[in-house]
Amino acid sequence: MSLIKSISGIRGTIGGRPGDGLSALDVVKFTAAYARFIRQGREGEVVKPKIVVGRDARLSGKMVESLVCGTLTAMGMDVVKIGLATTPTTEIAVTGEKADGGIIITASHNPRQWNALKLLNRNGEFLNDAEGKEVLRIAEAEDFSFAEVDELGRVMKNDTWNEKHIDAVLGLKLVDVEAIRKAGFRVAVDAVNSVGGIVIPQLLRALGVEEVIELNCEPNGKFAHTPEPIPENLGQIASLMKEGRADVGFVVDPDVDRLAIVMENGEMFVEEYTLVAVADYVLSNTPGASVSNLSSSRALRDVAAKHGCKYAAAAVGEVNVVTKMKEVGAVIGGEGNGGVIYPELHYGRDALVGVALFLTLLAKSGKKVSELKKDYPAYAIAKHKVELTPGLDVDKLLNQVKEIYASEEVTDIDGVKIDFPDSWVHLRKSNTEPIIRIYSEAHSGAEADALAVKVKGAVLKAAGK
Ligand code: MG
Repeated sequence: MSLIKSISGIRGTIGGRPGDGLSALDVVKFTAAYARFIRQGREGEVVKPKIVVGRDARLSGKMVESLVCGTLTAMGMDVVKIGLATTPTTEIAVTGEKADGGIIITASHNPRQWNALKLLNRNGEFLNDAEGKEVLRIAEAEDFSFAEVDELGRVMKNDTWNEKHIDAVLGLKLVDVEAIRKAGFRVAVDAVNSVGGIVIPQLLRALGVEEVIELNCEPNGKFAHTPEPIPENLGQIASLMKEGRADVGFVVDPDVDRLAIVMENGEMFVEEYTLVAVADYVLSNTPGASVSNLSSSRALRDVAAKHGCKYAAAAVGEVNVVTKMKEVGAVIGGEGNGGVIYPELHYGRDALVGVALFLTLLAKSGKKVSELKKDYPAYAIAKHKVELTPGLDVDKLLNQVKEIYASEEVTDIDGVKIDFPDSWVHLRKSNTEPIIRIYSEAHSGAEADALAVKVKGAVLKAAGK
């Protein structure tokens, strides 16, 4: 059993005693705290606040949805229940419904026994650090009270948002349906039997793709493989591509905010390059700033430089990337884990936008996906960690590392990132275990590994080991 309460919501395995796993009582308590947070400062208003609720196709989705909707109405709020919906669809529905907030019931890429509540503000964006802390405080103190009988809210259904989302993507200026239609692509999709199984094939057909090969596109929550869209989980689509059956393969996670691309030869385009390719296309048409997080590939910075555009890095976490994007007026941004944020539509990672922009780029380039990949600077990321003695002052240790590399370009807005001329290394402490995660990037996997091992040695030496 696991229950993790953080500023980005509550996440846990279904079942168990209250407080041990994501039990029904925990769902109710956390939802009530969120409702109280949305209501704060608005007591006495005549109009009831309205919250959009969407869910991915997890086995526990309907059960959690009924708890969330029941709790919101018990807190005197109206609910727009949009049913099976992606995370970006729910985000768009919040502003589309002029709602006061939104809850997405999804544990993203976590396995089937998990579920979670992701909390949105009235702009359909994730709560920030301070807001998330306030929800946690209210939940902890049970600082809420339920509505009396005449004040109860009601639940309204609206299952048109998937379609509206697809229409909005088709309406984007940089999405060229005609070019995609003419290219006559054969496209394979693996949606891990979640909501992407409905929306991605639907989007592809609306984009003029006639041949769509659907893998794991039944939204029944029976995840056909571990849901995170990383190479070790994508053998099925890779072997289909190796047989030459499709020009491009798309893989999404259960809530469809991450997009991985598989090349026509069955090899990975590599998740880091989803954002890089989409940004290349966006910047070549609408030059402007771009943003990704500190742990994302440097290839984006290089592509931005090629277009004469500014690049800025943000702390890890979607909310941090979005904040930075607004600050610098970015035209494109996201995260290296296949998360594309295109503010022309909304400020949230959106695999539908990613698919449409990538297919437009591919159609206009006239290249194979593997040829397109060669246009981008080659980098590889390595992921290591250092296990430390429990109780050790990790912040102090990170400061020591910073001093060791003081002559390099050091960024400390989120752990310690050291940029070298041809590589970088990023150290972050875990909030749950006594470890430091070390991510590094260089022009080859072997060089990235060597760099991580070298820095790991420096950390251990500073820790007195
Ligand atoms: Mg996700």
